[in-house]
Amino acid sequence: MNPLLLIRYGEIALKGKNRPFFENKLLQNIKESLKGLEPFQVSFRRGRYYVKIDGENLFSAQRRLQQVFGIVSISPVFPAKLDLEEICRQALKLLKDSYKPGTTFKINTRRANKNFPYTSPEINNLAGAYLLKSNLELKVDVHNPEIIINIDIRDKEAYLYSQSLPGPGGLPVGVTGKGLLLLSGGIDSPVAGWMALKRGIDIEALHFHSPPFTGDSALNKVVDLCHLLAAYSREITLHLAPFTKVQKEIRLKCPESILITLMRRVMFRVAERLAVKRNIPVIFTGESLGQVASQTLENLVAINEVADLPILRPLIGFDKEDIINIARKINSFPISVRPFDDCCTLFIPRHPVTRPALEELKKAEENIPLEELIAYCLDNIETKHIRPGC
Ligand code: ATP
Ligand code: MG
Repeated sequence: MNPLLLIRYGEIALKGKNRPFFENKLLQNIKESLKGLEPFQVSFRRGRYYVKIDGENLFSAQRRLQQVFGIVSISPVFPAKLDLEEICRQALKLLKDSYKPGTTFKINTRRANKNFPYTSPEINNLAGAYLLKSNLELKVDVHNPEIIINIDIRDKEAYLYSQSLPGPGGLPVGVTGKGLLLLSGGIDSPVAGWMALKRGIDIEALHFHSPPFTGDSALNKVVDLCHLLAAYSREITLHLAPFTKVQKEIRLKCPESILITLMRRVMFRVAERLAVKRNIPVIFTGESLGQVASQTLENLVAINEVADLPILRPLIGFDKEDIINIARKINSFPISVRPFDDCCTLFIPRHPVTRPALEELKKAEENIPLEELIAYCLDNIETKHIRPGC
């Protein structure tokens, strides 16, 4: 018989009266993630989800579920009739899947159905004895076994499982609200986006590009990063804003040392207006304190000054090494390090200011047609809807 997939959640269990809201959202996200693998059925009982799916799609389903935030683990579960003999046979089959001569094992029974005529310890003993009588070379180890055969005695059938695949943890995407991610093609911002998704934020992404200085390859990087993030959230809406005009104006009319800070201030103004238009209450970035000259505390303050919406920086206290480790884990790293220029790497000043004076920034901004530039960026945004891996 085909296994079912048993899905467990983590932090949701701690929620009080709101729990059904989180549980329903996770149910919806599980169904959404399995789209294209029909036919399947998802059911929910006593804090656990069960997915019934055809054998040929089982592996793909497992892989997709491992990217659904809120899930902590997934086990392929084998149903058996409520009959001790059959349960023992199924336990043996399960054990054979991971068997090596000399394997140690333990049986762990939970009897929710108290009408079943054997208690949990009795089932442990009887099934254990059955396995030891087989012609396999086995040993029982109740403290540190290599294989644990779990037997759940339920109302209509028994469920057996031994494997547990890790889920990504976190909260179901969408439960905490929406955020606008400033997404470059670099290493940090995709990780920041992933961390926002992990805490249940449904993100839209905004990327500034500078054609013809940044080409299709740079844009493809961003699109590919969105494909990757979309695997965690079913779809990413990506807004592409043209930034060439802004950069040209700033470069021509403002002091070189404050160029990056000025560019960021324009980006944040555009981001805020787009967020308000899209009904998004918060902006996310990949900035990390002190990582580069434009991320000193003084620069972050100067950049924040232009926006009223809260700006969240999930990586603020992370070392680059920590960020790279996450980027490798989620596979964004190989995309991020593709060697194509981003709009900000094009015009890096030789001596960027680390402690900008607000007055100097404001004065420089008087030299450029700020409102016109912001309106141009907003009016020429191109929006794409990006699904996982396609
Ligand atoms: P990243 O690896 O995310 O590019 P970084 O360390 O290179 O970060 P910066 O280039 O200074 O840092 O960018 C800081 C943040 O500003 C980024 O994390 C991102 O949120 C935002 N940002 C930078 N460039 C762009 C861009 N072209 N489009 C949208 N957001 C951007
Ligand atoms: Mg960058």
